[in-house]
Amino acid sequence: MSQSLGNAPKDAVGPGRTGCGHEAHGADKFTDDLVAATVSMIKYRIVVMSGKGGVGKSTVAVNLAASLAALGKQIGVLDADVHGPDIPMMFGLQGQIPESATGYLLPLIAPGNIRVMSMGFLISDRDRPVAWRGPLKHRLFQQFLSEVEWGPLDYLVIDLPPGTGDEPLSIAQLLGKPLWAVIVTTPQDVALLDSRKAAVFGREMDMDVLGIVENMSGLTCPYCGGKIDLFKVGGGEQAARELGVPFLGRIPIDPEVVGAGDEGLPMVLRKPDSRVAHAFKKVAGSIMEALGNRE
Ligand code: ADP
Repeated sequence: MSQSLGNAPKDAVGPGRTGCGHEAHGADKFTDDLVAATVSMIKYRIVVMSGKGGVGKSTVAVNLAASLAALGKQIGVLDADVHGPDIPMMFGLQGQIPESATGYLLPLIAPGNIRVMSMGFLISDRDRPVAWRGPLKHRLFQQFLSEVEWGPLDYLVIDLPPGTGDEPLSIAQLLGKPLWAVIVTTPQDVALLDSRKAAVFGREMDMDVLGIVENMSGLTCPYCGGKIDLFKVGGGEQAARELGVPFLGRIPIDPEVVGAGDEGLPMVLRKPDSRVAHAFKKVAGSIMEALGNRE
């Protein structure tokens, strides 16, 4: 593994790294083959997207991964958020550094035996912002897929940053087809508007949109057990209907989800019998069913 992963990759993307470009073309072909070899060992590649930040996309990604892992599946999580990599913290892996073996970088292992790779493992100063343009991010993802020893996986869950920027474009290009997408939204109108954009964007990227998850859907009063719809409810289902994609389920608001994220143990592993953990597992079941129907 080249040390370049820890900093901005020294080699620029694409041909032209050498004087005539021939060697660069050869190197690109080699890298493309390595990426293809990695991809061929992953049965399902699922991106988790949202139109805007703060809707619980990363939370859904880690709990989806944990739900699938609890079913005995081999799971990888690729954190594709270069500017705000939260996945290491959500899995309790922050501050850890991946080891390398036989020239490849080994993913970190999260609870549930989940293999994890993130930009967060490669930057020593967490407070220093990463200011990278698209080509550098593309190169990083290329290295994540060509120089990381993922091993065979049933599912690779990719946590994309919010919006429709460079990252989904690069990931879609590198992972090829089929690439499945799960859109996370909250029930409010503004978030829904953004989630519609994310769904349309996913389709334009030739992703197969598996459906929409409505997160932060209703709060159960801890005192009386009554339900409070803080952000309305049912919007995700309505957006799914309008977009003609399945509705994958709703996740309630649960203050313990915040603690679980901060402590680095997803709710599905921390409190597997809680209402919110059951909701995550139900969504994972809907996703598996949707994938099964595609076959
Ligand atoms: P995003 O990836 O969309 O930016 P995060 O997953 O980082 O969002 O979640 C944003 C915040 O909301 C985090 O503090 C997280 O713990 C919290 N959160 C996410 N889902 C829920 C939920 N269902 N109930 C309570 N808090 C939640």
